[in-house]
Amino acid sequence: MPDKRDYYEILGVAKNATADEIKKAYRKLAMKFHPDKNPGDKAAEDKFKELGEAYEALSNEEKRAAYDRYGHAAFNGGSGMGGGGGGGFHDPMDIFRQMFGGAFGGGGGGGFEDIFGGGGGRRKGAKQRGSDLRYDLELTLEEAAKGVEKELLIERETTCEKCSGSGSKSGSGVKTCSTCGGRGVVTRSAGIFIQQSECPTCHGTGEVISDPCDACGGDGCVTKETSIKLRIPAGVDTGTRLRSSGNGDAGPRGGPAGDLYVFLHIKKHDVFERDGDDLHCEVPISFSKAALGGEVKVPTLEGYTSIKIPVGTQPGTVFRLKEKGMPRLNGGRHGDLHVTVQVEIPTTLNKEQQEKLLAFADSIGEKNSPMEEGFFAKAKRFFDL
Ligand SMILES: [Zn+2]
Ligand SMILES: [Zn+2]
Repeated sequence: MPDKRDYYEILGVAKNATADEIKKAYRKLAMKFHPDKNPGDKAAEDKFKELGEAYEALSNEEKRAAYDRYGHAAFNGGSGMGGGGGGGFHDPMDIFRQMFGGAFGGGGGGGFEDIFGGGGGRRKGAKQRGSDLRYDLELTLEEAAKGVEKELLIERETTCEKCSGSGSKSGSGVKTCSTCGGRGVVTRSAGIFIQQSECPTCHGTGEVISDPCDACGGDGCVTKETSIKLRIPAGVDTGTRLRSSGNGDAGPRGGPAGDLYVFLHIKKHDVFERDGDDLHCEVPISFSKAALGGEVKVPTLEGYTSIKIPVGTQPGTVFRLKEKGMPRLNGGRHGDLHVTVQVEIPTTLNKEQQEKLLAFADSIGEKNSPMEEGFFAKAKRFFDL
């Protein structure tokens, strides 16, 4: 390919752009030039491919460093870049899906088509869909274990009550935009290319309002704090994403609402540490209980239970309590609770106790310290070398 364009230039970012800036630039441009949005437009398709390649190169730290040093030569011959010939770049569609699949997938079927309001781009007369929203919610471990209902207060675009979403004061002032003929986009040819851009008159809506509503200024929606009830199932973890369908922004002028994505974060717990479905905790026991054996009270998510400590339990011994861990998100067996025993050595002894302990030490001698014996045997071999 002669005269390949500079990757930074393609994405419209500076050479020292952060990873986030690169991602945002790609998102914006890839949506704009996506083939679904520009059917039959070869220039947009080429642009989309070029964007995919530029983003793939600059979003990967190693590839970006190689590009910064060697320019496009870094990817010629596919050396070390994987993917075989042709410079080793992936299908631009896959790159696009990866990005939007990562942010909006998960919900099954609710994939990236959502971004374009059901796929296929905007047709003439089709209403624009409202934006998807993100909400970050913190939960306690107990809430994550049992499931909980939460009420979220969200600032979102809601349908204007005054004009019922039409944007027109009288309700009949909505006219098809004459600049774009209702398409929402205007095309202009520049040499062999055809450039498509948002219609400057109607800003892509395809309509103009002759008597804008006082309350919403013609948008058909107003920003309002709304309360949304959300049922959170048991077993969620940090990184779990819930989709609340239709609770994103309302679409302008009666368009369908976007979705609300709730990203969950589980707070650190004082007693339990979570590892997937399993829980871990430490339980202190006295030195004499470790030696003599006995019962120990152990915390679980459902309150206390007790476990038997066998005679001669060593510090660090782990007891597994089956199915006392976290529930699984989609049902099935619970995780386990792993209890690690910490043996406590008394810090203050009175005279009588000290004497008894000394007498005990005399009586037991050194025969009953299996680890110590083994240790000094090894150390001896080491020093004798
Ligand atoms: Zn209104
Ligand atoms: Zn227009």
